[in-house]
Amino acid sequence: MTSSLDLYCTGKLDGLAAGDLKRQPVVTRRTGGARVLRAAETYISFSCNDYLGLSQHPQVIAAAQEAIVGHGAGAGASRLITGNHKLFDELEIRLAHLKETEDCLVFGSGYLANIGLIPALAREGDLILVDELAHACIHGGCRLSDARTVRFAHNDMDRLAGLLEERRGGHDKCLIVTDGVFSMDGDLAPLPEMRELADRHDAWLVTDDAHGIGVVGGGQGSGHAFDPPVMADIQMGTLSKAVGSYGGYVCASHVVCDYLRNRARSFVFSTGLPPSAAAAAIAALEIIANDIARDKELVNRPLKKAALFCERAGLPAPASPIVPVLTGDVQAALDISERLKTQGFLVVAIRPPTVPAGTSRLRVALSAVHDDKDIIRLAELVKQEPRAIA
Ligand SMILES: *Cc1c(COP(=O)(O)O)cnc(C)c1O
Repeated sequence: MTSSLDLYCTGKLDGLAAGDLKRQPVVTRRTGGARVLRAAETYISFSCNDYLGLSQHPQVIAAAQEAIVGHGAGAGASRLITGNHKLFDELEIRLAHLKETEDCLVFGSGYLANIGLIPALAREGDLILVDELAHACIHGGCRLSDARTVRFAHNDMDRLAGLLEERRGGHDKCLIVTDGVFSMDGDLAPLPEMRELADRHDAWLVTDDAHGIGVVGGGQGSGHAFDPPVMADIQMGTLSKAVGSYGGYVCASHVVCDYLRNRARSFVFSTGLPPSAAAAAIAALEIIANDIARDKELVNRPLKKAALFCERAGLPAPASPIVPVLTGDVQAALDISERLKTQGFLVVAIRPPTVPAGTSRLRVALSAVHDDKDIIRLAELVKQEPRAIA
């Protein structure tokens, strides 16, 4: 007999399948450089977020192995109980240094950081203004907060200014939240204008730099992509992309971090990051810091590769290593992705709910480990594909 629960899920899945929106994790083995193995086929992946190839770096792997031997496989408890192994200190100091903040707080993941920090700072009676294309976990954090949340059109500063004029007065506190680098579009938030608006209206600026750290602004992230650099009040991000490991962070002043240590529920009530993940992130951040001190060759490479791709594909110059190739239509994105697979390239189609309806796309993520000849070949293939949207 089928339970009502199974019936409910079957109905929902059928609905997704009817719109080509049902998804399935595919076993993927990353086999070095940008290569991945799927069902005995090898592809060059343009869908990994490992922008600097650091998840595979021998020093990073060795650091993780050593940490498991020295500290065990898991943290054993939340950080406020007994899970605060000593690697957290070094990790947070390195992140605060890179981000030029007083302090830093490491969470279990970037998702956990956003759903913890936003409700800790905004509650009923407060106002949150958030870019409509901000990452899902930012919108999730807003929902958990009970604050009045208003989405503004992507990067529309006139609209943001208007909302502040109209609504700021009727609320106690105000957060302005945005991705620094937009995860599916690769463009940057206009942080100088946002900083000015936040200051003028006594609002707190929160940036999500998941795709900025290590690859934008000379490796320091989206705030440093501007001259002079823009300091958000809170810079959050992840250790799972350019840093090659796992975990999330919040960089801010001492008191803000101290407050979040006490009141961000996803920090207080979730187990600390495993020692191996922390150690891997420390080793990766050391490589990034050394490269920044030397010549920034590594941290600047993904954006240079993206520029090469765009030039050859006839696309506008990129602001980050993320290049969207819009198809609009779900099926068109899936079809192009399939054709690229036959040519040895893995470029996963991105469709709703990851992007708004009607804006399905291929998301091409360039990494320091990509060979120029592969980039050029992919660009030529993409250029030949007929697309409804330029
Ligand atoms: C990936 C991502 C996150 C989530 O980070 P995880 O550490 O993977 O949970 C948050 N924000 C943005 C913009 C992201 O792209």
